[in-house]
Amino acid sequence: MNLENSIAEHLRAIPRSGIRDFFELVQGRDDVISLGVGEPDYSTPWHIREAAIYSLEKGETSYTSNFGLMTLRREISNYVEDQFDVQYSPDDEILVTVGVSEALDLAFRALLNPGDEVIFHQPCYVSYHPGIVMARGVGIAIETKAEDKFALMADDVEKHITDKTKILVINFPTNPTGAVEPVEELEKIAALAIKHNLIVISDEIYSELTYGDDEGMQRGEHVSIASLPGMKERTILLHGFSKAFAMTGFRLGYACAPPILTEAMMKIHQYAMLCAPITSQAAAVEALQNGAGPVEEMRQSYAMRRNLMLNRFEKIGVPCFSPGGAFYMFPDVREFGLSSSEFAFKFLEQENVAAVPGSAFGEAGEGFVRCCYATAIDKLEVALERMGDFVERLR
Ligand code: PLP
Repeated sequence: MNLENSIAEHLRAIPRSGIRDFFELVQGRDDVISLGVGEPDYSTPWHIREAAIYSLEKGETSYTSNFGLMTLRREISNYVEDQFDVQYSPDDEILVTVGVSEALDLAFRALLNPGDEVIFHQPCYVSYHPGIVMARGVGIAIETKAEDKFALMADDVEKHITDKTKILVINFPTNPTGAVEPVEELEKIAALAIKHNLIVISDEIYSELTYGDDEGMQRGEHVSIASLPGMKERTILLHGFSKAFAMTGFRLGYACAPPILTEAMMKIHQYAMLCAPITSQAAAVEALQNGAGPVEEMRQSYAMRRNLMLNRFEKIGVPCFSPGGAFYMFPDVREFGLSSSEFAFKFLEQENVAAVPGSAFGEAGEGFVRCCYATAIDKLEVALERMGDFVERLR
């Protein structure tokens, strides 16, 4: 039996993630310094883990409402209002999901008819384009550029809108660039969404990790597109616990959207997932009630590491813009005449340091590498020393 032919055609057309080959190579080596994985180097703060343990001790091992625990939805509602200045009802505008990953999949599947176009900015998180294709949509990538600090320009968005465009996906701060969107540009994009009747899916998973004044020691401003006039009714705001609360393994996120959209996403979630795990939901309640302190401590520590990285990139003469958020640097390695993949593979082979080729985040990432600095400071120091030696030899 030819099992290859039994795989759905639209799935066969999706290439496997560019990061996978790279990490298979990393796993076969000893003592690699990894700037590769996009996750906090912290364990989840103890008070949050304790809440999960206590929930288990109390015997809370059941399903929850498909939407998620009401206590959690109330906390999310308060948190989102406080952080993003937009109100969502815990009754019918918040859906608790298995990470932002599931929420993205639900949003695409709930909205797309075959052939509908979805605009997104690139370089971007690896699952956007495959997620769109798996929901039978057509992904339209808009390149963001280093000279614009990887912000999304409203003029570029307008040029890509057709009568088939249904959704615009934005992600600020951005994985893999660390870009934040200037508010004036966000306002212009909101005006376009209203003019062309688009739904905006806004992935704000890094929104707590922003670096403002005092070399990032102050938190930077984050404006959600959902909070702009006329936008709540056409926005699906996605957020979760993986990054700021260091809870990647808990697999918990949420979608906030108008009732009709929430209900449509819930329908898929109900049949595909039923609900998010109750233990993770109990932990998330504690995270939202008492997690602000640890989140800010982690953010400040990332800010220090970001400053160190910027300083070292400057020293070794590799251009890198100063990212306003997340925990990634996206240095420009075009001058070395190698593809980003060749650069990353050689760097790994010769210096035992893993940085992800920019091309893994779409064609627009070619010529760059992603360095995640959620790694111990001494390791970052060594990694950048080794990059200095490596680029010296290339020159
Ligand atoms: N969105 C972005 C931009 C990400 O970078 C990631 C993870 O790296 C996710 C979503 C997935 O998050 P979660 O762990 O909540 O599924």
